[in-house]
Amino acid sequence: MIRDTRWLSVPEQHAIVFDVQRFSVHDGPGIRTTVFFKGCPLRCRWCQNPESLRPQPEIAFYAECCRRARDCQPVCPHDAIQWSGDRIVRQRCDACGRCAEACAYDALRIIGRTVSLDGLLDEVCRDRPFYNASGGGVTLSGGEATMQMDFVGAFLRRCHAHGLRVGLQTCGAFRWESVAAHLPLFAFIQFDVKLMDPEQHRQQTGGDNRVILDNARRLVAAQAPVAFRMPVVPGITDTDLNLQQVAAWLHDLRVPAIHLLRYHAMGEAKRARIGSPLPPLHLDDGAVASNRLARAAERLRHEGIKVTT
Ligand code: SF4
Ligand code: SF4
Repeated sequence: MIRDTRWLSVPEQHAIVFDVQRFSVHDGPGIRTTVFFKGCPLRCRWCQNPESLRPQPEIAFYAECCRRARDCQPVCPHDAIQWSGDRIVRQRCDACGRCAEACAYDALRIIGRTVSLDGLLDEVCRDRPFYNASGGGVTLSGGEATMQMDFVGAFLRRCHAHGLRVGLQTCGAFRWESVAAHLPLFAFIQFDVKLMDPEQHRQQTGGDNRVILDNARRLVAAQAPVAFRMPVVPGITDTDLNLQQVAAWLHDLRVPAIHLLRYHAMGEAKRARIGSPLPPLHLDDGAVASNRLARAAERLRHEGIKVTT
């Protein structure tokens, strides 16, 4: 289930990220800088960051910005721009970025950039006064940051040496040894669980949940600062059966609490821009999503779990 990433042609001590978000207040305590690494081993049907899934940089087409000036087409070295359907013939595109540079309307953008250890450290250190004043720091997110664990490990050590507190958001699908070696350096680990039934998990996320649940158990046994979260996706993760199974699993681990994440449909609009093959879910992300979140919280509380939302 963990896809091989050795083919990634990233220079040593470099990584590919798709965003570095400053002044983030939802990714851990205080004011934080969240680094979104590119690449994820899962393909959750509700993914809000579909531009994170492929490990390599890619081109995104923002149809609403296009004025059909056609400056992009002649500069493409692979004849990868067309005027019907998805603007990019992705099998031909190597994300060279020339079309994005040529477009005066910002309708073509490269998602993903290479960062060096020193460069990323400089970037996150800019807001150190805010971290210090608020108890914040840096959050490693994605995609799945642990897919680039060599870099992440080195970055963690550098942050630690500079007195920065670093947290991790993970889907749990990682090689245990690679993360275990760095456990003492994480201020917190937010660990997402989705579905307890292996077949349901495979169908809805494209991955096996055994390694995820094993890693969760090992983190708890190692007394790592892990906190579990679960996205409440209406009709998928919030069935009575799954909620009961999640509660039983938490009781078995002697973990008393979980944080529930409300479903948002923002990933669906992004999919067309990058030619994602993930079909849309067409779920209501207004009142229905809020009601389902409240209902799931109630069910889990009824099973004796403390719930935050
Ligand atoms: S684990 Fe997260 S980033 Fe990866 S596919 Fe699922 S929701 Fe998207
Ligand atoms: S990124 Fe490069 S290869 Fe891809 S469509 Fe644009 S110009 Fe062509």
